[in-house]
Amino acid sequence: MAQDCIFCRIVAGDLPATPVREADDVVAFRDIDPRAPTHVLVIPRRHIASVNDLGAEDAELVGRLFLVAKEIAREEGVNETGYRLVMNTGPHAGQSVDHIHLHLLGGRDLAWPPG
Ligand code: 5GP
Ligand code: ZN
Repeated sequence: MAQDCIFCRIVAGDLPATPVREADDVVAFRDIDPRAPTHVLVIPRRHIASVNDLGAEDAELVGRLFLVAKEIAREEGVNETGYRLVMNTGPHAGQSVDHIHLHLLGGRDLAWPPG
């Protein structure tokens, strides 16, 4: 657990969040400031600051994030209408929490390209 990391605190149960999925390696919860009718964050329990910090040993974990997101998309009823999976990395992408998180956005038309 990284000190001062809000997502590590959510994983630890020190900060409240609305849970969507809890697995051994991955948890998912609703974004506090949803940008779409479905806006869920899927994160590893283990602290990894950004995509830049991923190693080859994390390949399975990253795959798990996507597989869990796929399952949640089905549960949320957006798998047929479509959804977007986004992992913002660094300042130009607007990453604001330095613990990797896969955004699952769905339930409305999503503009492309993003701003
Ligand atoms: P980023 O901007 O890093 O790609 O995404 C961070 C996301 O985390 C934002 O969408 C923001 O609304 C969400 N967020 C920030 N703090 C909290 C929090 O304390 N709880 C929850 N559930 N989401 C948070
Ligand atoms: Zn963390």
